[in-house]
Amino acid sequence: MPFINLLTFTTMNIKDHGHHFIAIFGGAVAGAEAALLLSQLGFKIVVFDQGLLPYGKIEDGLPKWHAKLRDKEERNIDQKLNHPNIMFVPGVKLGRDIHFREVLNWGFSAVILATGAWKDRPLPIEGIDVYNDKNLIYQNNLLKWFNHKHEPDYDGPQYEMKDGTIVIGGGLASLDVVKIVMIETVQKALKDRGIEVDMFKLDHGISKVLESHGLTLRDLNLKSCTLYYRRRAQDMPLTPMPTDTPEKLQKAQTVRQKILENFLKKYLFSFEACSAPYDKIVENGALTGIRFQRTKIADGKLAYLDEYFDAHAPLIISSIGSIPEKIEGISRDGAVFKIKDPKSCRIDGFNNVFAIGNAVTGKGNINESIKHSREVSGEIIENILDRQQEDYENWHRSTATKVQKDISEIVHAVEHAQSLSDDIKDSIIAKVKKFQKKSGYTGDYEAWIKDHLPVRLEDLL
Ligand SMILES: Cc1cc2nc3c(=O)[nH]c(=O)nc-3n(C[C@H](O)[C@H](O)[C@H](O)COP(=O)(O)OP(=O)(O)OC[C@H]3O[C@@H](n4cnc5c(N)ncnc54)[C@H](O)[C@@H]3O)c2cc1C
Repeated sequence: MPFINLLTFTTMNIKDHGHHFIAIFGGAVAGAEAALLLSQLGFKIVVFDQGLLPYGKIEDGLPKWHAKLRDKEERNIDQKLNHPNIMFVPGVKLGRDIHFREVLNWGFSAVILATGAWKDRPLPIEGIDVYNDKNLIYQNNLLKWFNHKHEPDYDGPQYEMKDGTIVIGGGLASLDVVKIVMIETVQKALKDRGIEVDMFKLDHGISKVLESHGLTLRDLNLKSCTLYYRRRAQDMPLTPMPTDTPEKLQKAQTVRQKILENFLKKYLFSFEACSAPYDKIVENGALTGIRFQRTKIADGKLAYLDEYFDAHAPLIISSIGSIPEKIEGISRDGAVFKIKDPKSCRIDGFNNVFAIGNAVTGKGNINESIKHSREVSGEIIENILDRQQEDYENWHRSTATKVQKDISEIVHAVEHAQSLSDDIKDSIIAKVKKFQKKSGYTGDYEAWIKDHLPVRLEDLL
Protein backbone atom coordinates (compact mmCIF):
# COMPACT_ATOMS: atom_id res chain seq x y z
CA MET A 1 0.00 0.00 0.00
CA PRO A 2 1.37 3.41 -0.94
CA PHE A 3 0.67 4.98 2.45
CA ILE A 4 2.74 2.38 4.32
CA ASN A 5 5.52 3.03 1.86
CA LEU A 6 5.45 6.73 2.61
CA LEU A 7 6.60 6.05 6.17
CA THR A 8 10.02 5.21 4.71
CA PHE A 9 10.43 8.88 3.84
CA THR A 10 9.85 10.42 7.26
CA THR A 11 13.00 12.51 7.07
CA MET A 12 11.92 14.35 3.96
CA ASN A 13 10.80 17.91 3.83
CA ILE A 14 7.68 17.36 1.77
CA LYS A 15 7.17 21.11 1.14
CA ASP A 16 10.42 21.36 -0.83
CA HIS A 17 9.39 18.67 -3.27
CA GLY A 18 7.14 21.15 -5.08
CA HIS A 19 10.33 22.60 -6.59
CA HIS A 20 10.86 19.41 -8.57
CA PHE A 21 9.08 18.28 -11.72
CA ILE A 22 9.29 14.62 -12.67
CA ALA A 23 8.33 13.30 -16.11
CA ILE A 24 6.86 9.80 -16.33
CA PHE A 25 6.39 8.18 -19.74
CA GLY A 26 3.65 5.53 -19.56
CA GLY A 27 0.69 5.87 -17.22
CA ALA A 28 -0.38 2.23 -16.77
CA VAL A 29 0.21 -0.09 -13.79
CA ALA A 30 3.84 0.94 -13.18
CA GLY A 31 3.59 4.61 -14.27
CA ALA A 32 0.41 5.29 -12.29
CA GLU A 33 1.84 3.71 -9.13
CA ALA A 34 5.01 5.83 -9.40
CA ALA A 35 2.98 8.96 -10.14
CA LEU A 36 0.79 8.43 -7.09
CA LEU A 37 3.68 7.75 -4.69
CA LEU A 38 5.68 10.74 -5.91
CA SER A 39 2.71 13.11 -6.04
CA GLN A 40 1.79 12.17 -2.45
CA LEU A 41 5.31 13.22 -1.48
CA GLY A 42 4.61 16.64 -2.95
CA PHE A 43 6.52 16.31 -6.23
CA LYS A 44 4.97 17.75 -9.38
CA ILE A 45 4.46 15.01 -11.93
CA VAL A 46 3.83 15.02 -15.66
CA VAL A 47 2.53 11.68 -17.01
CA PHE A 48 2.81 11.32 -20.78
CA ASP A 49 1.17 8.34 -22.50
CA GLN A 50 1.24 7.43 -26.17
CA GLY A 51 -2.38 6.31 -25.85
CA LEU A 52 -5.43 8.49 -25.33
CA LEU A 53 -6.08 6.30 -22.30
CA PRO A 54 -3.32 5.36 -19.86
CA TYR A 55 -4.20 1.70 -19.45
CA GLY A 56 -1.42 -0.10 -21.37
CA LYS A 57 -1.57 -3.90 -21.35
CA ILE A 58 -4.80 -3.86 -19.34
CA GLU A 59 -6.69 -2.36 -22.28
CA ASP A 60 -4.71 -3.84 -25.16
CA GLY A 61 -3.14 -7.06 -23.79
CA LEU A 62 -5.56 -8.58 -21.30
CA PRO A 63 -8.16 -10.39 -23.46
CA LYS A 64 -11.57 -8.74 -23.29
CA TRP A 65 -13.26 -11.74 -21.69
CA HIS A 66 -11.57 -10.50 -18.44
CA ALA A 67 -13.98 -7.53 -18.51
CA LYS A 68 -14.44 -7.27 -14.72
CA LEU A 69 -10.71 -7.38 -13.99
CA ARG A 70 -10.05 -4.85 -16.77
CA ASP A 71 -12.63 -2.40 -15.36
CA LYS A 72 -11.34 -2.81 -11.81
CA GLU A 73 -7.70 -2.25 -12.80
CA GLU A 74 -8.55 0.74 -14.98
CA ARG A 75 -10.51 2.45 -12.18
CA ASN A 76 -7.49 1.75 -9.97
CA ILE A 77 -5.24 3.64 -12.42
CA ASP A 78 -7.81 6.49 -12.63
CA GLN A 79 -7.78 6.89 -8.86
CA LYS A 80 -4.00 7.13 -8.88
CA LEU A 81 -3.64 9.58 -11.78
CA ASN A 82 -6.48 11.91 -10.79
CA HIS A 83 -4.35 13.87 -8.30
CA PRO A 84 -3.79 17.66 -8.15
CA ASN A 85 0.02 17.22 -8.39
CA ILE A 86 -0.25 15.18 -11.60
CA MET A 87 -0.59 16.66 -15.09
CA PHE A 88 -1.69 14.03 -17.62
CA VAL A 89 -0.65 14.37 -21.27
CA PRO A 90 -2.37 11.83 -23.52
CA GLY A 91 -1.40 10.93 -27.09
CA VAL A 92 2.32 11.76 -26.78
CA LYS A 93 4.81 9.08 -27.69
CA LEU A 94 8.40 9.38 -26.52
CA GLY A 95 10.65 8.93 -29.55
CA ARG A 96 7.93 9.97 -32.00
CA ASP A 97 6.15 13.13 -30.74
CA ILE A 98 8.95 14.18 -28.45
CA HIS A 99 12.57 13.06 -28.45
CA PHE A 100 14.37 11.86 -25.35
CA ARG A 101 17.12 14.53 -25.66
CA GLU A 102 14.43 17.21 -25.90
CA VAL A 103 12.81 15.92 -22.69
CA LEU A 104 16.16 16.17 -20.91
CA ASN A 105 16.45 19.79 -22.08
CA TRP A 106 13.11 20.74 -20.55
CA GLY A 107 14.85 20.65 -17.15
CA PHE A 108 12.92 17.87 -15.36
CA SER A 109 14.43 16.78 -12.03
CA ALA A 110 13.99 13.16 -13.13
CA VAL A 111 12.61 11.20 -16.08
CA ILE A 112 10.97 7.82 -15.50
CA LEU A 113 10.31 5.32 -18.28
CA ALA A 114 7.27 3.18 -17.49
CA THR A 115 6.73 2.37 -21.14
CA GLY A 116 6.19 -1.39 -20.78
CA ALA A 117 7.05 -4.01 -23.38
CA TRP A 118 5.23 -3.43 -26.67
CA LYS A 119 7.53 -4.87 -29.32
CA ASP A 120 6.98 -8.52 -30.13
CA ARG A 121 10.10 -10.61 -29.80
CA PRO A 122 10.86 -11.41 -33.46
CA LEU A 123 10.52 -15.04 -34.60
CA PRO A 124 14.05 -16.42 -35.00
CA ILE A 125 13.60 -17.15 -38.72
CA GLU A 126 15.45 -14.97 -41.21
CA GLY A 127 13.26 -13.02 -43.60
CA ILE A 128 9.93 -14.15 -42.09
CA ASP A 129 8.86 -10.63 -41.12
CA VAL A 130 8.24 -9.82 -44.81
CA TYR A 131 4.99 -11.78 -44.28
CA ASN A 132 4.00 -9.78 -41.21
CA ASP A 133 0.28 -8.95 -41.24
CA LYS A 134 -0.19 -11.21 -44.27
CA ASN A 135 -0.10 -14.86 -43.20
CA LEU A 136 1.94 -13.98 -40.12
CA ILE A 137 0.53 -12.09 -37.14
CA TYR A 138 2.32 -11.12 -33.96
CA GLN A 139 0.57 -11.34 -30.61
CA ASN A 140 0.47 -7.62 -29.65
CA ASN A 141 -1.36 -6.64 -32.84
CA LEU A 142 -3.65 -9.66 -32.57
CA LEU A 143 -4.71 -8.73 -29.04
CA LYS A 144 -5.34 -5.08 -29.97
CA TRP A 145 -7.55 -6.21 -32.85
CA PHE A 146 -9.40 -8.80 -30.77
CA ASN A 147 -10.05 -6.40 -27.88
CA HIS A 148 -11.26 -3.51 -30.05
CA LYS A 149 -12.67 -4.89 -33.31
CA HIS A 150 -16.28 -4.58 -32.10
CA GLU A 151 -15.91 -0.79 -31.64
CA PRO A 152 -17.71 1.16 -34.37
CA ASP A 153 -14.69 3.47 -34.86
CA TYR A 154 -11.99 0.76 -34.71
CA ASP A 155 -9.51 1.62 -37.49
CA GLY A 156 -6.57 -0.71 -36.78
CA PRO A 157 -5.53 -3.74 -38.85
CA GLN A 158 -8.26 -6.30 -39.62
CA TYR A 159 -7.53 -10.01 -39.27
CA GLU A 160 -9.47 -13.18 -39.95
CA MET A 161 -8.77 -16.21 -37.78
CA LYS A 162 -8.45 -19.40 -39.80
CA ASP A 163 -8.97 -23.07 -39.01
CA GLY A 164 -5.66 -24.96 -38.85
CA THR A 165 -3.67 -21.93 -37.60
CA ILE A 166 -0.19 -22.52 -36.17
CA VAL A 167 0.47 -20.69 -32.89
CA ILE A 168 4.09 -20.55 -31.73
CA GLY A 169 4.56 -19.88 -28.03
CA GLY A 170 4.27 -21.53 -24.66
CA GLY A 171 3.43 -18.92 -21.99
CA LEU A 172 0.11 -17.78 -20.59
CA ALA A 173 -0.27 -15.26 -23.41
CA SER A 174 0.00 -18.02 -26.03
CA LEU A 175 -2.94 -19.82 -24.38
CA ASP A 176 -4.90 -16.57 -24.75
CA VAL A 177 -3.92 -16.58 -28.43
CA VAL A 178 -5.10 -20.17 -29.11
CA LYS A 179 -8.31 -19.36 -27.25
CA ILE A 180 -8.86 -16.36 -29.52
CA VAL A 181 -8.31 -18.46 -32.67
CA MET A 182 -10.65 -21.22 -31.42
CA ILE A 183 -13.35 -18.79 -30.22
CA GLU A 184 -13.32 -16.90 -33.52
CA THR A 185 -13.32 -19.98 -35.80
CA VAL A 186 -15.99 -21.87 -33.81
CA GLN A 187 -18.17 -18.77 -33.45
CA LYS A 188 -18.08 -18.24 -37.23
CA ALA A 189 -18.76 -21.92 -38.03
CA LEU A 190 -21.74 -21.91 -35.64
CA LYS A 191 -23.01 -18.67 -37.16
CA ASP A 192 -22.84 -20.26 -40.63
CA ARG A 193 -25.22 -22.90 -39.24
CA GLY A 194 -27.53 -20.21 -37.91
CA ILE A 195 -26.37 -20.55 -34.28
CA GLU A 196 -25.37 -17.27 -32.61
CA VAL A 197 -23.16 -17.65 -29.52
CA ASP A 198 -21.43 -14.69 -27.88
CA MET A 199 -17.73 -14.59 -27.03
CA PHE A 200 -18.34 -14.67 -23.25
CA LYS A 201 -20.19 -18.01 -23.52
CA LEU A 202 -17.40 -19.51 -25.62
CA ASP A 203 -14.87 -18.26 -23.06
CA HIS A 204 -16.59 -20.49 -20.48
CA GLY A 205 -15.81 -23.52 -22.63
CA ILE A 206 -16.06 -24.26 -26.34
CA SER A 207 -16.62 -27.97 -25.60
CA LYS A 208 -19.58 -27.10 -23.34
CA VAL A 209 -21.17 -24.90 -26.02
CA LEU A 210 -20.73 -27.54 -28.74
CA GLU A 211 -22.11 -30.28 -26.45
CA SER A 212 -25.18 -28.18 -25.72
CA HIS A 213 -25.88 -28.11 -29.47
CA GLY A 214 -25.00 -31.80 -29.95
CA LEU A 215 -22.10 -30.83 -32.22
CA THR A 216 -18.39 -31.63 -32.55
CA LEU A 217 -15.57 -29.77 -34.30
CA ARG A 218 -15.77 -32.40 -37.06
CA ASP A 219 -19.49 -31.60 -37.59
CA LEU A 220 -18.40 -27.99 -38.13
CA ASN A 221 -15.65 -29.10 -40.56
CA LEU A 222 -12.98 -27.69 -38.24
CA LYS A 223 -9.58 -29.25 -37.57
CA SER A 224 -8.69 -26.78 -34.75
CA CYS A 225 -5.43 -24.89 -34.33
CA THR A 226 -2.14 -26.17 -32.90
CA LEU A 227 0.15 -24.64 -30.30
CA TYR A 228 3.82 -25.48 -30.93
CA TYR A 229 6.15 -25.17 -27.95
CA ARG A 230 9.90 -25.77 -27.93
CA ARG A 231 9.84 -27.42 -24.48
CA ARG A 232 7.44 -29.85 -22.78
CA ALA A 233 3.99 -29.21 -21.27
CA GLN A 234 5.43 -29.40 -17.74
CA ASP A 235 7.96 -26.65 -18.62
CA MET A 236 5.35 -24.07 -19.72
CA PRO A 237 5.55 -20.89 -17.60
CA LEU A 238 1.80 -20.88 -17.02
CA THR A 239 1.47 -19.92 -13.40
CA PRO A 240 3.81 -18.21 -10.95
CA MET A 241 4.82 -21.01 -8.56
CA PRO A 242 8.14 -21.47 -6.80
CA THR A 243 10.50 -24.07 -8.32
CA ASP A 244 13.53 -23.70 -6.04
CA THR A 245 13.46 -27.24 -4.57
CA PRO A 246 12.92 -30.56 -6.41
CA GLU A 247 9.57 -31.02 -4.56
CA LYS A 248 8.34 -27.54 -5.50
CA LEU A 249 9.47 -28.03 -9.10
CA GLN A 250 7.60 -31.35 -9.26
CA LYS A 251 4.45 -29.69 -7.93
CA ALA A 252 4.75 -26.77 -10.35
CA GLN A 253 5.22 -29.19 -13.26
CA THR A 254 2.09 -31.14 -12.26
CA VAL A 255 0.09 -27.91 -12.08
CA ARG A 256 1.38 -26.72 -15.46
CA GLN A 257 0.41 -30.01 -17.08
CA LYS A 258 -3.01 -29.84 -15.48
CA ILE A 259 -3.55 -26.26 -16.67
CA LEU A 260 -2.70 -27.26 -20.23
CA GLU A 261 -4.91 -30.39 -20.07
CA ASN A 262 -7.84 -28.30 -18.85
CA PHE A 263 -7.29 -25.77 -21.62
CA LEU A 264 -7.11 -28.53 -24.25
CA LYS A 265 -10.37 -30.05 -22.97
CA LYS A 266 -12.18 -26.75 -22.76
CA TYR A 267 -11.00 -25.09 -25.97
CA LEU A 268 -10.32 -28.14 -28.19
CA PHE A 269 -7.01 -27.06 -29.76
CA SER A 270 -3.97 -29.34 -30.28
CA PHE A 271 -0.55 -29.17 -28.65
CA GLU A 272 2.84 -30.15 -30.07
CA ALA A 273 5.69 -30.20 -27.55
CA CYS A 274 9.46 -30.07 -28.23
CA SER A 275 9.09 -28.22 -31.53
CA ALA A 276 11.24 -25.14 -32.21
CA PRO A 277 10.59 -22.93 -35.26
CA TYR A 278 13.46 -23.50 -37.70
CA ASP A 279 12.54 -22.10 -41.12
CA LYS A 280 9.70 -20.63 -43.13
CA ILE A 281 7.86 -22.51 -45.87
CA VAL A 282 7.09 -20.20 -48.78
CA GLU A 283 5.08 -21.27 -51.83
CA ASN A 284 4.23 -18.99 -54.77
CA GLY A 285 5.43 -15.98 -52.78
CA ALA A 286 3.20 -16.70 -49.77
CA LEU A 287 4.09 -17.99 -46.32
CA THR A 288 2.37 -21.40 -46.10
CA GLY A 289 3.95 -23.02 -43.07
CA ILE A 290 6.84 -23.50 -40.69
CA ARG A 291 9.63 -26.06 -40.62
CA PHE A 292 10.14 -27.13 -37.02
CA GLN A 293 13.18 -28.68 -35.39
CA ARG A 294 12.66 -31.36 -32.74
CA THR A 295 14.11 -30.70 -29.31
CA LYS A 296 14.46 -32.62 -26.07
CA ILE A 297 14.90 -31.63 -22.46
CA ALA A 298 17.94 -33.26 -20.90
CA ASP A 299 18.77 -32.46 -17.24
CA GLY A 300 16.39 -29.51 -17.45
CA LYS A 301 18.24 -28.07 -20.47
CA LEU A 302 16.94 -27.63 -23.99
CA ALA A 303 18.79 -29.63 -26.66
CA TYR A 304 18.19 -29.37 -30.41
CA LEU A 305 17.98 -32.67 -32.33
CA ASP A 306 18.85 -33.31 -35.96
CA GLU A 307 15.18 -33.96 -36.79
CA TYR A 308 12.87 -31.64 -38.70
CA PHE A 309 9.22 -31.65 -39.77
CA ASP A 310 7.01 -29.36 -41.85
CA ALA A 311 3.68 -27.96 -40.70
CA HIS A 312 1.49 -26.21 -43.28
CA ALA A 313 -1.10 -23.64 -42.20
CA PRO A 314 -3.21 -20.80 -43.60
CA LEU A 315 -2.10 -18.53 -40.74
CA ILE A 316 0.85 -18.38 -38.34
CA ILE A 317 0.69 -16.46 -35.06
CA SER A 318 3.79 -15.77 -33.04
CA SER A 319 3.37 -15.43 -29.28
CA ILE A 320 6.93 -15.70 -28.00
CA GLY A 321 7.03 -12.65 -25.75
CA SER A 322 7.29 -8.85 -25.75
CA ILE A 323 10.26 -6.57 -25.22
CA PRO A 324 10.52 -2.79 -24.69
CA GLU A 325 10.53 -0.69 -27.86
CA LYS A 326 13.81 1.06 -28.67
CA ILE A 327 14.01 4.72 -27.66
CA GLU A 328 16.70 6.78 -29.37
CA GLY A 329 19.25 8.05 -26.88
CA ILE A 330 18.78 5.22 -24.37
CA SER A 331 21.25 2.35 -24.49
CA ARG A 332 20.10 -1.22 -24.29
CA ASP A 333 21.33 -4.45 -22.84
CA GLY A 334 20.07 -6.97 -25.38
CA ALA A 335 16.29 -6.72 -25.44
CA VAL A 336 15.83 -4.35 -22.48
CA PHE A 337 17.00 -0.90 -21.36
CA LYS A 338 20.49 -0.94 -19.90
CA ILE A 339 20.33 -0.26 -16.18
CA LYS A 340 23.30 0.67 -13.99
CA ASP A 341 23.31 -2.50 -11.89
CA PRO A 342 20.78 -5.28 -11.33
CA LYS A 343 19.48 -3.78 -8.07
CA SER A 344 19.04 -0.29 -9.50
CA CYS A 345 16.32 1.10 -11.71
CA ARG A 346 18.63 3.87 -12.99
CA ILE A 347 19.35 3.89 -16.71
CA ASP A 348 23.05 3.52 -17.46
CA GLY A 349 24.74 6.78 -18.41
CA PHE A 350 22.31 9.11 -16.59
CA ASN A 351 21.94 10.27 -12.99
CA ASN A 352 18.26 11.05 -13.15
CA VAL A 353 16.68 8.72 -15.74
CA PHE A 354 14.97 5.57 -14.46
CA ALA A 355 12.99 2.61 -15.82
CA ILE A 356 10.26 0.76 -13.94
CA GLY A 357 7.70 -2.00 -14.60
CA ASN A 358 7.79 -4.14 -17.73
CA ALA A 359 10.17 -1.61 -19.33
CA VAL A 360 12.94 -3.07 -17.15
CA THR A 361 12.47 -6.80 -17.50
CA GLY A 362 10.44 -7.01 -20.66
CA LYS A 363 7.68 -8.98 -18.99
CA GLY A 364 7.20 -7.93 -15.41
CA ASN A 365 9.07 -9.25 -12.44
CA ILE A 366 8.77 -12.98 -12.14
CA ASN A 367 10.45 -13.17 -8.69
CA GLU A 368 7.92 -10.75 -7.30
CA SER A 369 5.19 -12.78 -8.95
CA ILE A 370 6.47 -15.88 -7.20
CA LYS A 371 6.25 -14.16 -3.83
CA HIS A 372 2.67 -13.35 -4.58
CA SER A 373 1.85 -16.84 -5.75
CA ARG A 374 -0.19 -19.12 -3.63
CA GLU A 375 0.22 -22.73 -2.67
CA VAL A 376 -1.74 -24.93 -5.03
CA SER A 377 -3.23 -27.99 -3.39
CA GLY A 378 -4.57 -31.07 -5.19
CA GLU A 379 -8.25 -30.19 -5.11
CA ILE A 380 -7.86 -26.63 -6.35
CA ILE A 381 -5.79 -27.75 -9.32
CA GLU A 382 -9.14 -28.77 -10.84
CA ASN A 383 -10.33 -25.17 -10.61
CA ILE A 384 -7.09 -23.62 -11.71
CA LEU A 385 -8.48 -22.28 -14.97
CA ASP A 386 -10.87 -20.08 -13.07
CA ARG A 387 -7.85 -18.76 -11.20
CA GLN A 388 -6.13 -17.45 -14.34
CA GLN A 389 -7.78 -14.10 -13.67
CA GLU A 390 -6.15 -14.13 -10.25
CA ASP A 391 -2.73 -14.73 -11.83
CA TYR A 392 -3.16 -11.61 -13.96
CA GLU A 393 -4.23 -9.67 -10.90
CA ASN A 394 -1.18 -10.89 -8.97
CA TRP A 395 1.06 -9.78 -11.83
CA HIS A 396 -0.41 -6.30 -11.73
CA ARG A 397 0.06 -6.12 -7.96
CA SER A 398 3.64 -7.41 -8.19
CA THR A 399 4.47 -4.76 -10.81
CA ALA A 400 3.12 -2.09 -8.43
CA THR A 401 5.01 -3.57 -5.44
CA LYS A 402 8.29 -3.48 -7.36
CA VAL A 403 7.65 0.18 -8.25
CA GLN A 404 7.15 1.00 -4.56
CA LYS A 405 10.66 -0.36 -3.93
CA ASP A 406 12.19 1.53 -6.87
CA ILE A 407 10.69 4.84 -5.72
CA SER A 408 13.16 5.33 -2.86
CA GLU A 409 16.10 5.35 -5.31
CA ILE A 410 14.29 7.89 -7.48
CA VAL A 411 13.34 10.12 -4.52
CA HIS A 412 16.94 10.02 -3.29
CA ALA A 413 18.24 11.15 -6.70
CA VAL A 414 15.68 13.94 -7.04
CA GLU A 415 16.34 15.27 -3.56
CA HIS A 416 19.99 15.60 -4.50
CA ALA A 417 19.12 17.44 -7.70
CA GLN A 418 18.98 21.23 -7.69
CA SER A 419 15.53 22.74 -7.07
CA LEU A 420 14.06 24.09 -10.27
CA SER A 421 13.91 27.85 -10.74
CA ASP A 422 10.51 29.48 -11.24
CA ASP A 423 11.48 30.14 -14.87
CA ILE A 424 12.13 26.45 -15.56
CA LYS A 425 8.93 25.42 -13.77
CA ASP A 426 6.90 27.94 -15.77
CA SER A 427 8.51 26.81 -19.00
CA ILE A 428 7.73 23.11 -18.25
CA ILE A 429 4.10 23.98 -17.47
CA ALA A 430 3.81 26.00 -20.68
CA LYS A 431 5.26 23.16 -22.78
CA VAL A 432 3.02 20.58 -21.10
CA LYS A 433 -0.05 22.73 -21.75
CA LYS A 434 0.91 23.03 -25.41
CA PHE A 435 1.04 19.23 -25.76
CA GLN A 436 -2.24 18.85 -23.85
CA LYS A 437 -3.89 21.37 -26.16
CA LYS A 438 -2.64 19.47 -29.20
CA SER A 439 -4.33 16.30 -27.89
CA GLY A 440 -7.50 18.21 -26.98
CA TYR A 441 -7.03 17.49 -23.26
CA THR A 442 -8.45 20.25 -21.07
CA GLY A 443 -7.05 19.11 -17.73
CA ASP A 444 -10.25 17.42 -16.54
CA TYR A 445 -9.04 13.82 -16.15
CA GLU A 446 -12.43 12.32 -15.28
CA ALA A 447 -14.20 13.99 -18.20
CA TRP A 448 -11.43 12.88 -20.59
CA ILE A 449 -11.73 9.23 -19.50
CA LYS A 450 -15.52 9.35 -19.79
CA ASP A 451 -15.25 10.75 -23.34
CA HIS A 452 -12.60 8.30 -24.52
CA LEU A 453 -13.52 5.00 -22.89
CA PRO A 454 -14.33 2.66 -25.79
CA VAL A 455 -17.67 0.94 -26.33
CA ARG A 456 -17.56 -2.39 -24.49
CA LEU A 457 -18.64 -5.63 -26.16
CA GLU A 458 -20.84 -6.58 -23.17
CA ASP A 459 -22.85 -3.37 -23.68
CA LEU A 460 -23.55 -4.32 -27.30
CA LEU A 461 -24.90 -7.82 -26.50
C1 LIG B 1 -0.86 -11.60 -21.81
C2 LIG B 1 -0.20 -11.03 -20.59
C3 LIG B 1 0.92 -11.67 -20.04
C4 LIG B 1 1.54 -11.16 -18.90
N1 LIG B 1 2.63 -11.78 -18.40
C5 LIG B 1 3.24 -11.27 -17.29
C6 LIG B 1 4.40 -11.87 -16.74
O1 LIG B 1 4.89 -12.88 -17.26
N2 LIG B 1 4.95 -11.33 -15.63
C7 LIG B 1 4.43 -10.23 -15.06
O2 LIG B 1 4.96 -9.74 -14.07
N3 LIG B 1 3.35 -9.63 -15.56
C8 LIG B 1 2.74 -10.13 -16.65
N4 LIG B 1 1.62 -9.54 -17.14
C9 LIG B 1 1.02 -8.44 -16.42
C10 LIG B 1 1.29 -7.08 -16.93
O3 LIG B 1 1.90 -7.00 -18.20
C11 LIG B 1 2.15 -6.27 -16.00
O4 LIG B 1 2.11 -6.63 -14.68
C12 LIG B 1 1.70 -4.80 -16.08
O5 LIG B 1 0.58 -4.57 -16.88
C13 LIG B 1 2.83 -4.02 -16.69
O6 LIG B 1 2.59 -2.69 -16.46
P1 LIG B 1 3.51 -1.58 -17.05
O7 LIG B 1 2.92 -0.30 -16.58
O8 LIG B 1 4.95 -1.86 -16.77
O9 LIG B 1 3.40 -1.73 -18.63
P2 LIG B 1 2.21 -1.50 -19.66
O10 LIG B 1 0.92 -2.00 -19.15
O11 LIG B 1 2.69 -2.06 -20.93
O12 LIG B 1 2.09 0.08 -19.76
C14 LIG B 1 3.02 0.88 -20.46
C15 LIG B 1 2.36 2.20 -20.80
O13 LIG B 1 3.32 3.01 -21.44
C16 LIG B 1 2.75 3.59 -22.62
N5 LIG B 1 3.87 3.78 -23.56
C17 LIG B 1 4.59 2.80 -24.17
N6 LIG B 1 5.56 3.34 -24.93
C18 LIG B 1 5.46 4.69 -24.80
C19 LIG B 1 6.19 5.78 -25.33
N7 LIG B 1 7.24 5.61 -26.15
N8 LIG B 1 5.79 7.04 -25.01
C20 LIG B 1 4.73 7.25 -24.17
N9 LIG B 1 4.02 6.23 -23.63
C21 LIG B 1 4.37 4.97 -23.94
C22 LIG B 1 1.71 2.59 -23.08
O14 LIG B 1 0.72 3.21 -23.87
C23 LIG B 1 1.18 2.06 -21.75
O15 LIG B 1 0.08 2.81 -21.29
C24 LIG B 1 1.00 -10.01 -18.30
C25 LIG B 1 -0.11 -9.37 -18.86
C26 LIG B 1 -0.72 -9.86 -19.99
C27 LIG B 1 -1.90 -9.16 -20.56
